[in-house]
Amino acid sequence: MTQTPEQAAQKPLTLALSKGRIFEETLPLLAAAGIEVPENPEQSRKLILPTTDPGLRLIIVRASDVPTYVQYGAADLGIAGKDVLIEHSAEHPGGLYQPIDLNIAKCRLAVAVREGFDYRAAVHQGARLRVATKYVQAAREHFAAKGVHVDLIKLYGSMELAPLVGLADAIVDLVSTGNTLRANNLVAVEDIMPISSRLIVNQAALKTRGARLQPLLDAFARASA
Ligand code: AMP
Repeated sequence: MTQTPEQAAQKPLTLALSKGRIFEETLPLLAAAGIEVPENPEQSRKLILPTTDPGLRLIIVRASDVPTYVQYGAADLGIAGKDVLIEHSAEHPGGLYQPIDLNIAKCRLAVAVREGFDYRAAVHQGARLRVATKYVQAAREHFAAKGVHVDLIKLYGSMELAPLVGLADAIVDLVSTGNTLRANNLVAVEDIMPISSRLIVNQAALKTRGARLQPLLDAFARASA
């Protein structure tokens, strides 16, 4: 789907993001740029949402798909968590420019175990731990750096269940308030890294549509500082 430069210049800018916390916390950043979003994706089933700026539209995609839409240029820019970006860049190196940490959707990536499981002793004894996670890349790097032997089990959701039913000794998951861990009798035993969402930009768009993108990037940078 090749476009002429003229066609590309006329198209509205497309910003990819996921609904939920990232969408909610992006609204004030857009408002700081004078842009409102009249429809809420939680109520509307629309996947393409207009904004009050005719030059900008939003597309609502799964969080882990945001980098893919931006990398292939279907979206000019996107908003994605550092967790998602680490996993994406392991499989698709290069191609995404990450100019701004928006400081939104903050949480932390952590190792958690069942209450009563002696994680430190297991690590100290050099036991081979089974770790269930959606964040395989970040987990692999973390345990390799610490010299902990692990077998990683890839899951796509509800990691908290894995230690409770004997699928894994530990999980690597995002923790915000800690309520989900507590509700499932799990405890965080090690922080891996703080997580926040970043603005990502398609590199070709930056070159061909830089003049339109730059004011938006500047407004986001000011609003998130
Ligand atoms: P909490 O109970 O507040 O600690 O939140 C933990 C649950 O929410 C876990 O299932 C996480 O995967 C998810 N979660 C927390 N913060 C985020 C975030 N910033 N982005 C995506 N998922 C999150």
